[in-house]
Amino acid sequence: MICDAKSIKYVASTLLQGKPVTHGFLTRVGGVSKDSYASLNFDARDTDTTENVEKNRALFHEAFNVPAGKLVTVSQVHGKEIFAIEGGLPEKPIEADAIVTNQTGVAIGMMTADCQPVLLFDPVNRAIGAVHAGWKGSALGIVVETVLEMHRLYGTNPEELMASTGPCIGPCCYKVGWNVLDEYMARHKEADCFTEKDGLRMDINLANTIQLALFGLKKENISNDAVCTACNSDLFFSYRKDNGRTGRQLSFIMLNNGTNG
Ligand SMILES: [Zn+2]
Repeated sequence: MICDAKSIKYVASTLLQGKPVTHGFLTRVGGVSKDSYASLNFDARDTDTTENVEKNRALFHEAFNVPAGKLVTVSQVHGKEIFAIEGGLPEKPIEADAIVTNQTGVAIGMMTADCQPVLLFDPVNRAIGAVHAGWKGSALGIVVETVLEMHRLYGTNPEELMASTGPCIGPCCYKVGWNVLDEYMARHKEADCFTEKDGLRMDINLANTIQLALFGLKKENISNDAVCTACNSDLFFSYRKDNGRTGRQLSFIMLNNGTNG
């Protein structure tokens, strides 16, 4: 479901709406960046200006009522390291591809452009997770690794955990090499996320969804907001569709203060 927060358009998960969290899978709409990075780009590693990215972050803070300095992102490297926020917030991004916390009022975010963002919410132990899972992350099983970390740190039971899978490149647009299948099958028994139609194709959303379900999440606790970023490049940054020169959209989740949200 596409929603508006001031100038920003974002996808809201039907599963997480009404829960004591603030969340969103932001689109590329509503920011100040230009050209290939138009307009709500959150990553200055390419050639967009730091000034534009800072303005976009300020727009985000205002639109979602996230206090300044309370958005934590990481330096994503397509690995399986998980950063747990305990105590103070990091001054510089740490290399990781997932963040977990049980602190209220701290937004944790992932930046993507075809890879999948997955947001996790444990309503029983009041803990959250944000995961960056492209083909490499899903081959490494990062969503399950993150659930395991939440179990270790907060006592999360997968049967009570909610997961929302966000916009990513769909199998309609995602042809991959056979090495991807080989790497995936080195760790997983299910190959349902691969199809052969005019070349090998991968469904990243299905891969992450299957892994979460096999790990004990209930079907009704997994919501699917995985519209294809490449088919909808007017709404989303897509690395494939934009030939590698593109921005990154933000997906985030934050535990609200108080008990009712
Ligand atoms: Zn597509």
